[in-house]
Amino acid sequence: MDAERLRALLTDLWDLFERVYNLDESLQGLVDLLGERVGADLVTAYLFHERGRELRLHAARGSVPGDSVPARLPPKEGAVAEAFSRHTTVCDADDVSAGPLPREDLPGFLIVPLQRGRVKLGVLIMQHSTEGFFTADLARGLRSLGSHLASTVDSVTAFTELPEERQPAPAAEQEETEATLVYGRIAAPGTAVGRAVLLDQVWSPDEPETGDAEAPSEESREEAGSRLDAALAASEQQLERLRRDAEERLSEVASVIFTSHLLMLHDEHFSGRMRSCVAEGRSPRRAVIDTVNHYVEVFSSMEEARFGEKVQDVQDLGHRILANLEHRDGEPADYNGQIVIARNIFPSELMMLAAQAVEGVVFLGNGVTAHIAILAQSLGLPVLITGDPAILSVQAGTLLYLDADRGVLHIAPSQEVLGEKHREVAAAEKSAPLQTKCGARVYVMANVNIMRDANTAREHAADGIGLYRSEFPFIIRNDFPSEDEQYQIYRKIVQQMPDREVVLRTADIGGDKLVDGSSPQEQNPFLGVRGIRFSLANRNLFRDQLRAMLRAGHDADLHIMFPMVSSVDEIEMGREEVERCIADLSRESIRHNASPKIGTMVELPSAVEAIGDIAATSDFLSIGSNDLVMYLLAVDRTNEHLSDLYRDYHPAVLKVHKRIVDGIGDRLDHLSVCGDSAASPVMLPFYLGIGIRRFSVAPSRIPGLRHRIGNLTIEDAQRISGEMLGIRSIRDMEEYLELADAGSLTDAAGVATVRRP
Ligand code: PEP
Ligand code: MG
Repeated sequence: MDAERLRALLTDLWDLFERVYNLDESLQGLVDLLGERVGADLVTAYLFHERGRELRLHAARGSVPGDSVPARLPPKEGAVAEAFSRHTTVCDADDVSAGPLPREDLPGFLIVPLQRGRVKLGVLIMQHSTEGFFTADLARGLRSLGSHLASTVDSVTAFTELPEERQPAPAAEQEETEATLVYGRIAAPGTAVGRAVLLDQVWSPDEPETGDAEAPSEESREEAGSRLDAALAASEQQLERLRRDAEERLSEVASVIFTSHLLMLHDEHFSGRMRSCVAEGRSPRRAVIDTVNHYVEVFSSMEEARFGEKVQDVQDLGHRILANLEHRDGEPADYNGQIVIARNIFPSELMMLAAQAVEGVVFLGNGVTAHIAILAQSLGLPVLITGDPAILSVQAGTLLYLDADRGVLHIAPSQEVLGEKHREVAAAEKSAPLQTKCGARVYVMANVNIMRDANTAREHAADGIGLYRSEFPFIIRNDFPSEDEQYQIYRKIVQQMPDREVVLRTADIGGDKLVDGSSPQEQNPFLGVRGIRFSLANRNLFRDQLRAMLRAGHDADLHIMFPMVSSVDEIEMGREEVERCIADLSRESIRHNASPKIGTMVELPSAVEAIGDIAATSDFLSIGSNDLVMYLLAVDRTNEHLSDLYRDYHPAVLKVHKRIVDGIGDRLDHLSVCGDSAASPVMLPFYLGIGIRRFSVAPSRIPGLRHRIGNLTIEDAQRISGEMLGIRSIRDMEEYLELADAGSLTDAAGVATVRRP
């Protein structure tokens, strides 16, 4: 099969799985299409069933009668076991024994695993009477399709593999609170006024658990059924709209969140259960609550992280259906005018809330990840993280004023306090090319996490993209997007910055940036399989990503950067992979960038020690101060109890920066800073003073940074950095900075630090 036909086949297969509402029908469509286009004698799809720990046949197409294909396959022997357990495509040319296959008399075979992260979902098996019939290109194309398919399969089958019913635990009583102020850490600055909505308490029973289950209903069962159907239909329409909006306004990966809600909505186990409850005589409201409670309880009891996430999905979906039941006029169930209070929040949830126009978010501090903060900043959403459980006692509907510039939540604020909200916003200054007061050229680029950042970066005339955190689509989807999916995402990012530098960082998975199934449980994830270590340990995923980047940047000033580098060896191994991908793409005649610049994040102490060699092995370098500070000071960047110890102006941190600059000698033009401290007013004179001229910051911080750069001279900056390097204690440093900055000591995010009184 030539490359053109293969691409056409893959496109059609993708379309087929764009909207899957009936799994077996879609799998049948898949095997039919494959059988027809590839010319396979037999194509089968087997899914793994946890209960029997076996692969069961879901679809088959071939020149043999259907019943001669075994209904079950053991996932423990031969090529099937190899593909299934090792997550790799296997064909008859590989050095494995065939073992049990659907048809033993067809020696040519290609087996594609269906995997989501490392979760095994099934296999797709193609067979042919001729050995060597299936090509390596076909295997590669189908492998990426396999992971896409697996996401869909996973969503659709989530309801079918559950243990028996359990009773939901009674929810805790709500307590009255007298507190009017709650203090917390700023995850993303900004202010908002809105009514409280408590995500975790959506399902607190406001009526007895069995409630009106057996109570005679005033409306007939038929009427109740129609009312439920109308609410389900309205929910479907809203979700379709949200999916489109998310795709256009935020990113295509965000839309996946709504796709999974749609899949749940269409699942017979979910909506069918509600319908059965109504048919038994329960009210539609009760049916929704009971069904959601049931699945919340069941998913909560599952150990795998992916089921934990589904708790949130199910609650949110239930919330929407209830709202639609109660607002028959079609009032949209969004979070406009509301501030969400939650016990915890996932990145995907935050994305979803932003898409649903939420005003702000406050949540309890446990389990906060750096990416929640980064994502919230990208979304322009004020987010506060607090350790104060009093927030969970706030009554739904209470007026709130969230001041995430100062780190405080006002509960039922006075009119006087509300008046503060109308604060002045500094006008963005756009002056390119950017210079200091004395005329030195300085570059300010953007850190991009989602598509919207790239738009904002362009609006603020960024000098390019200094850091694209490519792990975001992985984290948001909690999955590994295929090469083509990644290509689509990276291409859009690259197109936002024609003629400017674009730095695509390979996935920094690990640490607090976890993707389901990405790595085994680790005692110390920050010291574990993270960044380039993850990529080098998962070469197929790494190659998919590099190929997608090289393709997306075919006409761009493409820079590829590796995170968490601790030695030149890792850079060399990464470079070899890039070269291998370039050679493969050339051979396959696929358009790509054949000479990307290869760069390294300087964020580990070992990289600093070896900075001369690291610089000589890299085309460019970027200081990741977020991690560098963490690893130098042994202070977890996500641990709120240590936030007072996490200081980017710590004397040791400053000295390390100076050593980096001294260590790379005349290659200073190739060095930037892309950690949050690049946007800190306190650190700016220091950085300029030691010679750094390239910064990459969150797009929203570009105007402020430009303004400050324009007001500084290099001479002043050199004096300040010299003085700062001479200071020996944190206390002295804080005194110096307070004097220098007229008392407005700021944290790494450039936000005034507010401490609990
Ligand atoms: C950093 O560590 O400073 C950095 C920019 O990378 P991330 O925040 O994504 O770890
Ligand atoms: Mg980092």
